[in-house]
Amino acid sequence: MQDNALAVAWLRGFARAVEEDEDRLTALDSAIGDGDHGINMRRGTSHVHRMLLRDGPSGTMGELLDAAGRLLRTHVGGAAGALYGSTFQAMGAALPDGRAGLTGLGDALQEGLTAVVRLGAAAPGDKTMVDAYTPAVAAFREACAHGRSLGEAATAAAEAAAAGARSTVSMQARKGRASYLGYRSVGHLDPGAVSTGMLFRALAEEIT
Ligand code: ADP
Ligand code: MG
Ligand code: MG
Repeated sequence: MQDNALAVAWLRGFARAVEEDEDRLTALDSAIGDGDHGINMRRGTSHVHRMLLRDGPSGTMGELLDAAGRLLRTHVGGAAGALYGSTFQAMGAALPDGRAGLTGLGDALQEGLTAVVRLGAAAPGDKTMVDAYTPAVAAFREACAHGRSLGEAATAAAEAAAAGARSTVSMQARKGRASYLGYRSVGHLDPGAVSTGMLFRALAEEIT
């Protein structure tokens, strides 16, 4: 698959997943936030979807991810808009010549995570999307280092992201709106970690 075709498939798959799980993401955010994560993400990914329908796979993978990041930043809004916007734009910037390949994609995912951490200053264990993102990137790069295929690396990343998202249940939130609840945030999934799990699942489903 061409790199830009992978980017289109990944973005489409993520948009579809957000659309399907919009209500679930919003319900998760109702429990420990302000009940808008699904609505916010859906608004953003529907703009991404429309861009893809309009423009198709024109541009490099880097350009497509950058364009998606700009749309997410503008249309998701809230904390997640800035965070997803930054992560996609950082991934786009990490793929300037449009040739992803296995290590290129691993490096881009790492840049995406670095951008989230730089902006949001969350550490693993703070009950945020970083708790899904960090193990996913680590699993992807470890699979690369062991000579696995792109599909195997993406599947390992998706599994690690899902496990990371589940691990937020027992955490007390230290960043974002959920932190206002203190210990009452314990016992709930973090909505942003769940949507990040969907991002990595979409990548795995489109690659394999
Ligand atoms: P808002 O809180 O502005 O309503 P959303 O509901 O769309 O935004 O997104 C909430 C999600 O954003 C949280 O579940 C969490 O995963 C993520 N988040 C919030 N603050 C941070 C942060 N500082 N670093 C990383 N992720 C964060
Ligand atoms: Mg919210
Ligand atoms: Mg909000």
